[in-house]
Amino acid sequence: MTLSVAVIGAGPSGFYTAEALLKRGLDCQIDILEGLPTPYGLIRAGVAPDHQSTKRVTRAYERTARHEQVAYFGNVEIGRDISLDELRANYDAVVLAIGAPLDRGLDIPGGDKRGVHGAAAFVGWYNGHPDFRDLVPDLNCDAVAIIGNGNVALDVARVLVKTPREMAKTDMPDYAAAAIHGAPIRDVHLLGRRGPVEAKWTNVELREMGELEDCRVVLDPDQLPDRVAGKWSARDRRLREKNLETLRGFLGQPPDGKHKRLHFAFYAKPVEVLGGDRVTGLRLERTRVEDGRVVDTGETFDLACGLVVAAIGYRAQPIAGVPYDECRGIVSNRQGRVAPGLYVVGWAKRGPSGVIGSNKPDADLIASHVAADLAPQGEGAGEGTGDGKPGRAGLQALLAERHVAWVSFADWLAIEAAEIAAAPAGAPRQKLIRIKDMLAVLGKSAGQRRTG
Ligand code: NAP
Repeated sequence: MTLSVAVIGAGPSGFYTAEALLKRGLDCQIDILEGLPTPYGLIRAGVAPDHQSTKRVTRAYERTARHEQVAYFGNVEIGRDISLDELRANYDAVVLAIGAPLDRGLDIPGGDKRGVHGAAAFVGWYNGHPDFRDLVPDLNCDAVAIIGNGNVALDVARVLVKTPREMAKTDMPDYAAAAIHGAPIRDVHLLGRRGPVEAKWTNVELREMGELEDCRVVLDPDQLPDRVAGKWSARDRRLREKNLETLRGFLGQPPDGKHKRLHFAFYAKPVEVLGGDRVTGLRLERTRVEDGRVVDTGETFDLACGLVVAAIGYRAQPIAGVPYDECRGIVSNRQGRVAPGLYVVGWAKRGPSGVIGSNKPDADLIASHVAADLAPQGEGAGEGTGDGKPGRAGLQALLAERHVAWVSFADWLAIEAAEIAAAPAGAPRQKLIRIKDMLAVLGKSAGQRRTG
């Protein structure tokens, strides 16, 4: 009996799950469902537009999508077009590969003022995610504060200070490029509540900050320790030593007439967003680090800024009827198992950590669960425990009944061809942002549905 598997979410963890199922040689049909017409999740809308080489990983996903056992159903949103219960009734296994698209809240007084944005929204805006097209952040300010010392914070800082020439060969949408490059931003402050040793950046990403055309790094040498103290694995210690060395290297750089400044500030914990209706500054508390933990000192200072971006981590979108761990912002699970026939993988399973490839072992684990729980076992095994559910045919019947304008993989390739054809010279594509414009390429109408 052919197992039917629905994977919800067409980001890296969804595609790696499909790939892992195929590699096991299971007799299965895999349908990847995605709320947007476009596949690839964070690769398209999260990875920074100036990191095009990272985005090449989609070639492997494309091979998976073209496999005869796999089908793509874009523009199909769970809860709007079809319920999770309906999917579970139609498929032997449902895998939630829904990522962690929501921002962790900046839970301090003033955190809801105009001019405070979470990184998920801000990155989505400059990366052309339809849900954030209308965010329109007000960049009319001299100084920006970015909270967090992870790679997302570095991405946001870099995109804000790079010159039009540095961004020319990217797929950043015109509206974001115009807003960023037309803004008077001179100073970008990267704020860590702990020290440089505890920062979570990877070294390649940190080094990039020293290679910017019109922006120099500013940091206080007194905040750089001589050595990496504390308990670390050999690998982590090496990474942190490298980061310290890179930061020390920034100290020796001449200003070279550069107009913008990127300030690394450590031991600074945000305690209040200042201003009236909109942001005028950030109040920070000086901290120290003991045994890796933040210790407050009670001493505060203010930083003037007109925009705050909180790059402090993400959380998964809760789904009605699915257990959710509020504290970790993930789907509650036991090693990826949620309920019989229901699994979770990637960031929704383990939280927003690791690089793109970190989703592979997770996907292998889920494929092994599906095989163990549902597939026929061993030689001469019978039907397996799959219930012979309708799978793809059931989904297609429901979508047809509801007049859902779903997008196949061939349709996506047509959208992509239109984006590539419209690209300015040297740029990889000009992204279509509005869902209605994507569907128009296919001669489809969004009708009464989400128009993006
Ligand atoms: P992250 O690496 O976990 O960094 C989050 C940062 O926010 C940490 O510095 C954390 O400080 C800080 N933070 C959390 N809550 C805070 C609060 N209430 N106040 C002040 N600071 C707070 O997360 P991320 O940057 O969102 O990245 C997510 C994942 O994507 C990471 O695995 C990252 O490496 C990956 N990523 C990779 C790339 C790349 O490879 N180029 C690019 C982007 C993202 P503490 O450490 O003190 O908690």
